[in-house]
Amino acid sequence: MIKPQILQQFIVSPGSEVNLKNYVTDWTETDTAKELGKDVIKERANEILAENRKQLAAAQELLYASDTYSVLLIFQAMDAAGKDGTIRHVMAGVNPQGCQVYSFKKPSVEELDHNFLWRYMKALPERGRIGIFNRSYYEDVLVVKVHPEWLGPGQPAKPDKAFWEKRYEDINNFEKHLARNGTLVLKFFLHVSKGEQKRRFLERLNNPEKHWKFSESDMAEREHWKDYQKAFEDALGATSTKRAPWHVIPADRKYVARALVADIVTTAIQDLGLEYPKVSAEKMAQLEAARAKLEKKTNGDKPEALLESGGENAG
Ligand code: AMP
Ligand code: MG
Repeated sequence: MIKPQILQQFIVSPGSEVNLKNYVTDWTETDTAKELGKDVIKERANEILAENRKQLAAAQELLYASDTYSVLLIFQAMDAAGKDGTIRHVMAGVNPQGCQVYSFKKPSVEELDHNFLWRYMKALPERGRIGIFNRSYYEDVLVVKVHPEWLGPGQPAKPDKAFWEKRYEDINNFEKHLARNGTLVLKFFLHVSKGEQKRRFLERLNNPEKHWKFSESDMAEREHWKDYQKAFEDALGATSTKRAPWHVIPADRKYVARALVADIVTTAIQDLGLEYPKVSAEKMAQLEAARAKLEKKTNGDKPEALLESGGENAG
């Protein structure tokens, strides 16, 4: 597991002004990393991911058994930063019944006719489960901040600063409500450089198996790079809280991003200090009685005996 002192650098301090230029996109270029060398880091990152997968599976089982908390993981990023791959790799070991992923696209007419949190509220994980939002209500202060014309009916044509501040406030209050009701919220911004995005787009164009992933609108949004970075900086600064922190994850190296996210999620769930439910004396007596009954040999256990006596479906 990664030391908390190391993970600290990726957390956005509550109330801080965020400048994304101060956060690395390629962690292998940092001084600490250079000392180790890229190959060593890649190997270590993959080990960390594998170890966390195992521990995350166990942590989710305990989360379910203890029936006290739910976990909400939020992923936001520029296109091709690796949200889908990170979700796939980090969650690979978890019982599919213990987690649910929602990918939010452009809102429908029906969704736009409700308050902006409505569609996300309906998708929240129940107690015991890990819910993943691949994009989230943060789009409602990101993509629509860059394109206010997509805000939908009943919204201002030219939203001012106060409009966005109210949305941040709504989000903070919403997350406070979630925390008070037993939802652990962890937020990840996969921080990719413009150069790496270009490389990944070209890969999509050059590889026929990746053509389906390419969308013209991704190219159009790339033109607004600076506006998006600014929208992210504003949103991250306004909504990183102790109860629902933002992590800026260096995402130019997929293996780095995956190892970090896996470690942060696993550690946070383990830190909830959950325990398996204690069995009461009465229940213990029931378990003992059941054991005694099962251990007493009877013919009824044998399949042949069932056939001879002719069950409901025999004939
Ligand atoms: P993808 O995740 O690549 O399938 O793309 C989903 C698209 O839906 C992206 O272009 C998002 O910007 C867009 N989208 C998601 N949520 C919203 C929202 N609340 N308002 C407007 N567009 C959104
Ligand atoms: Mg896309």
